[in-house]
Amino acid sequence: MKPVGSKISRRKLAVDSAESPGSKVKLETRLIHAGVSIDATGAIAPAIQLSTTFLHPADVSQLDGYLYQRYSNPTQEQLEHALAELDDAAHALFFATGLAAAAAMMHTLKSGDRVLLADDTYFAIRKLFLDEGLRIGMRCELLDMTDLPAVRAALSTSAQLVWLETPSNPLIKVTDVEAVSALARAAGARTVVDATFCTPLLLSPLKLGADVVLHSTTKYLSGHSDNMGGSLTLNDEALYLQLFDLRKLLGGTGSPFSAWLTLRGIRTLACRLRWACESAGQIAHMLALHPNVAKVHYPGLVTHPGHAIAAAQMASFGAMLSFEVVGSRADSIKVAEKLKIFTNATSLGSVESLVEHRQSTEGPTSTTPDTLLRLSIGLEHVDDLIADLKQALQQA
Ligand code: PLP
Repeated sequence: MKPVGSKISRRKLAVDSAESPGSKVKLETRLIHAGVSIDATGAIAPAIQLSTTFLHPADVSQLDGYLYQRYSNPTQEQLEHALAELDDAAHALFFATGLAAAAAMMHTLKSGDRVLLADDTYFAIRKLFLDEGLRIGMRCELLDMTDLPAVRAALSTSAQLVWLETPSNPLIKVTDVEAVSALARAAGARTVVDATFCTPLLLSPLKLGADVVLHSTTKYLSGHSDNMGGSLTLNDEALYLQLFDLRKLLGGTGSPFSAWLTLRGIRTLACRLRWACESAGQIAHMLALHPNVAKVHYPGLVTHPGHAIAAAQMASFGAMLSFEVVGSRADSIKVAEKLKIFTNATSLGSVESLVEHRQSTEGPTSTTPDTLLRLSIGLEHVDDLIADLKQALQQA
């Protein structure tokens, strides 16, 4: 069934810059106004429409509006207008979680289809393809997407989907989106980029040739550790309609309250992420010089193998980093325990800084080094974060 939209008249964002007509206003301006609709009340802040069901004509085939919340709803649609605007996409779909978005994407494939996944893809998405995808007959292979000759060789045989994540979780590997998307297209495969670590502010995968962008909106877009969601943004109309139906059937539609919180989070994304990226850079440089740190994974360091690609394709180097502690697994866990301002918790992209011994979260099949700690840099003062890390490393 074709998605039906609202009859609400939306105040369309004037995207043309006043300074240079024909070019869009800056992304920071779009973050504030994208998806804004002012209804008859004149309210500036969006309303939350909680209704699960909507008045329809007796002959439902004449429907020209909403039907049922699992299909679509006004608040979710408002967020989708914003997400499409920010990723420069024709379409956006909002899901209950990032995993629900990934699952819908996986279900566009069929038995026998071949999928190439970045070897450092977020572990639950890797598991989704390697367990569920394989179970329903897909051929799923892991590949180092930063190794272009290996990607070229793998795509000399046809494939249907290439899945990459940049920077990756948790090894912060940087993939050349333009190069991999071009190779995938030539092999007849669609490219999905999980841009959760970047948000639309730092990376524009569709402009670089990718077909679909995934965001776990649970992270930076919501930004306060209190709201789950996921999104897919894309240009292909037929694929959008297929995904719309899959979301409806798999049941992973995002709730109106979650959409509302995400819209609210988006408004402050630029200030939050810029601040956190600035702190992450300073922290990475401190860690790189620390005698109790064996290795730092952060693309802002010139020593990072993906530094040049990150500098070319990202607006800044992000606020996620990981590092390997000198010593054993137990030593790295001890560092995590000693931290006072960083909170030991999974997830990322929120106002508070988080630390995680990633291997223990990922479980027995993890391939993450056992001395690796992942940091999500939040909005505390960077001097305090640096002091906290130094005291924890000192006592290691
Ligand atoms: N993609 C990345 C890179 C993630 O880190 C996560 C979660 O941590 C997801 C996707 C899944 O998102 P969610 O937890 O919202 O389902």
